[in-house]
Amino acid sequence: MRLQGKRILISAAAQGMGRASALACAAEGASVVAVDIDEDGLATLAGEGNGIEVHRLDVRDRAAIDALAARTGGLDGLFNCAGFVHHGTVLDVSEEDWAFSVDLNVTSMYRMTQAFLPAMLERAGETGGAAILNMASMASSIKGFVNRAVYGTTKAAVIGLTKSIAADFVTRGLRCNALCPGTVDTPSLRGRIASAADPVQAEKDFIARQPMGRLATVDDITPLVVYLLSDESRFMTGQAVLVDGGVTI
Ligand code: NAD
Repeated sequence: MRLQGKRILISAAAQGMGRASALACAAEGASVVAVDIDEDGLATLAGEGNGIEVHRLDVRDRAAIDALAARTGGLDGLFNCAGFVHHGTVLDVSEEDWAFSVDLNVTSMYRMTQAFLPAMLERAGETGGAAILNMASMASSIKGFVNRAVYGTTKAAVIGLTKSIAADFVTRGLRCNALCPGTVDTPSLRGRIASAADPVQAEKDFIARQPMGRLATVDDITPLVVYLLSDESRFMTGQAVLVDGGVTI
């Protein structure tokens, strides 16, 4: 049990990588708090009998975050997973869409960290360590992709935020890393494929991005989530960790 005794909160946990991470962390012995705005998705997660505690939480709502942090107390792990993929070049993004992506993909992580970090630091002082994991992407400061103007901008900012948190709290037992996946087969990716003008071609194009010749599954990603939230990665902080099927070779 690699996460035995650890209390870990995961956002965007109703589907996709967040949900798979909640299940993987619970399977490794963690006490998992799963949050999302999708209450039906959370209900099916809680209904699986895995002991996962679920709460509706909009990571754009500071008051709700602060209230949950006050109730939850100290965490050993925080996985900020929520994010949204906007499709378009810089010429296509409205101010409203730009502001939405910045708020959901980056500002939410600032809010969550401000709310949960003080008690995490206290707990780290007692246990010897705590970890924050922020969901970035290979589409970020790592690599440019077509039609990912605001998305790539926000995920680059996530890496910057991650490094600043790592630098500020490295001496207090708090580690912070960013996860940078390639193209992962999740409900939102299926939505992006379905909404393309030619969905069959869109799926082929997404697959062709990976030299390994396939999409990642959520199970290709969760071992890294468990590792980065566990004590096995105790000498690692401030890193943007790629798991991309060879895209950036
Ligand atoms: P997804 O996009 O299918 O699901 C996202 C979840 O986030 C949903 O359950 C949704 O209800 C929840 N959510 C949306 N707004 C929220 C809010 N305001 N508060 C709380 N929850 C909210 O899942 P995914 O594709 O695994 O993506 C998860 C993260 O991984 C995102 O940050 C995404 O940018 C990133 N990412 C995805 C891919 C990919 O190819 N799928 C690749 C790299 C990075």
